[in-house]
Amino acid sequence: MHKKHHKALLLFLLLFVSGCTNEEKKLRRENLRGEHLIRKHDEYFFTPPPPQPRSRESYPWEDKYIGSFPRISKEFFRCKGNPLNPVIVQDRGDKESFYYRDCSGRRHGLPIKDGQEFVYPCLINLLNFVQEKTEKRVVITAGHRCPTHNAYCDYTPYNWGSKHMLGAEVDFYVEGMEEQPEAIIKILMEYYPEEEFTRFKSEGLNISTPPWYNKEIFIKLYHPLEGRNHDNQHAYPYIGIQVRYDCEENKRIIFNQEQSQNYLRH
Ligand SMILES: [Zn+2]
Repeated sequence: MHKKHHKALLLFLLLFVSGCTNEEKKLRRENLRGEHLIRKHDEYFFTPPPPQPRSRESYPWEDKYIGSFPRISKEFFRCKGNPLNPVIVQDRGDKESFYYRDCSGRRHGLPIKDGQEFVYPCLINLLNFVQEKTEKRVVITAGHRCPTHNAYCDYTPYNWGSKHMLGAEVDFYVEGMEEQPEAIIKILMEYYPEEEFTRFKSEGLNISTPPWYNKEIFIKLYHPLEGRNHDNQHAYPYIGIQVRYDCEENKRIIFNQEQSQNYLRH
């Protein structure tokens, strides 16, 4: 009894392993026949160019850095006002005093242009260029200023038409090169290799160093006792860049009250 069982089991296993009938084997062979690609030599639809060494494209996260510093973007230009700053009282003698309160700071937006928050791209590009050349950090002390923060910073009449309100002006210094602003100004000029800068006649202005300008920008250097305002209370010289000309729209940039009010308030 036992031996018969074993034989039957063995036969069954053999059948199982050997698989199928001859018919099925034939079918399988046919199905397994490879389809070979026919490719002749030296026959192309077009001649591919010889391979060239190519530098690797950067990954998106690498784009956020220039060297070891974050790439400057319009985010760096957000208004530095802070509602916790104390109220400033301007004593006007016999007349009623003026009171200046700071704005809500980063909770409001940048200037709006064509439905988007906007800072003049040449300012962003120039500061990234400085960071790239010096391998040092650019510290923006004033980017966009909303009208409230602008008045809070500096309530002299000269400041009323400040282009900081349009995203067309920036104040900054370079960490580690605080005492060498002239070297930074040289780099700013190198950004425009084809253009000469003209020296501004600063007679009558309360500035010891005459500014420089070309078609697009105006560069001012403020020494430690000049141009001090709420945003620039540090002890360093600083550089102010103002955009004079919109090279995309081919027009001069002049302060505009209506434009200065065009930003999102939260
Ligand atoms: Zn503000």
